[in-house]
Amino acid sequence: MASPYWSPVVCRLTPYVPGEQPKLDRLVKLNTNENPYGPSPKALAAIQSELSDALRLYPDPNAERLKRAIAAYYGTTSAQVFVGNGSDEVLAHAFHALFQHPAPLLFPDITYSFYPVYCGLYGIEYVTVPLAEDFTLRVADYLRPNGGIIFANPNAPTGCLLPLADIEWLLERNRESALVVDEAYIDFGGDTAIALVDRYPNLLVTQTLSKSRALAGLRVGLAVGHPELIEALERVKNSFNSYPLDRLAIAGAVAAFEDHAHFERTRRAIIANRERLSAALAELGFEVLPSAANFVFARHPRRDAAELAAALRERSVIVRHFRQPRIAQFLRITVGNPEQNATLLATLDQALAVS
Ligand SMILES: *Cc1c(COP(=O)(O)O)cnc(C)c1O
Repeated sequence: MASPYWSPVVCRLTPYVPGEQPKLDRLVKLNTNENPYGPSPKALAAIQSELSDALRLYPDPNAERLKRAIAAYYGTTSAQVFVGNGSDEVLAHAFHALFQHPAPLLFPDITYSFYPVYCGLYGIEYVTVPLAEDFTLRVADYLRPNGGIIFANPNAPTGCLLPLADIEWLLERNRESALVVDEAYIDFGGDTAIALVDRYPNLLVTQTLSKSRALAGLRVGLAVGHPELIEALERVKNSFNSYPLDRLAIAGAVAAFEDHAHFERTRRAIIANRERLSAALAELGFEVLPSAANFVFARHPRRDAAELAAALRERSVIVRHFRQPRIAQFLRITVGNPEQNATLLATLDQALAVS
């Protein structure tokens, strides 16, 4: 379906397909890596108190309060921080601002499926680099001419973590192009590469409040890097939308970054739930990749993943399945609260019993 009114580029686009958000009640929704514990009550209170006549005024186009809160949290300066309407928007601006070069962008063959979509939107050539057989990323495979490198760490949808030392090894050797590390899941088990931004002017680290801070509905993402990289993102942002964060989002995000106790408590609970879920899935016969994220990636040696996903769905449990080479027999299962995980396991047990 195309229309003569469309710009030619629109005819060629293959848009990203987000995990579904069904309107049904009583679903055990483990398909989009949302956080079962909910946002900080202090963030909700801050959003409430922002609901006033002040909404007739535009928000701060630079969200300075939020940049200061993030800079204070990570020990950087505000000039090293960029914020946007979800990290998807931050990533889009990074592709636009840093990756449009003659040499191809490099990213893993199995990773966040939005990356090739941004390449299509901005006309960026790319080459995918296969992960190892065990789905780990070998940084040495990225030592080739490139116009930029991006990967998620922990990776999605595998959950595999790349040690910070490997990222630094690559940064030492790849100095001519930007490296973007998408840390959507870093709070669930890794050390952030933000520790390296002062030493490597080509490193940009992106994060989101959607997963570890349970604010997927508020749409707040961020990037930290050298002020010159941040300036490139600001130029794109200010050529696109001056006010990507509204007043409610700025207020809620600041309070979320200031509420260390809620963040720590919920993050630790998810990590503990993940370890129990992984062990229980292994007992059901699944091979479970070691995960540093708030989801697990698992396959059953004798049962088709698409059929299992469909059987779960019939019983109101939703997980994510990707019809994609190498991973078509895996299920990506969001780590829920203990009750959700117990329902998932009982339902899987039933589905496995039917042959
Ligand atoms: C969830 C996710 C994002 C985007 O999150 P936003 O909700 O847009 O902030 C980015 N990268 C990866 C790998 C993700 O899984």
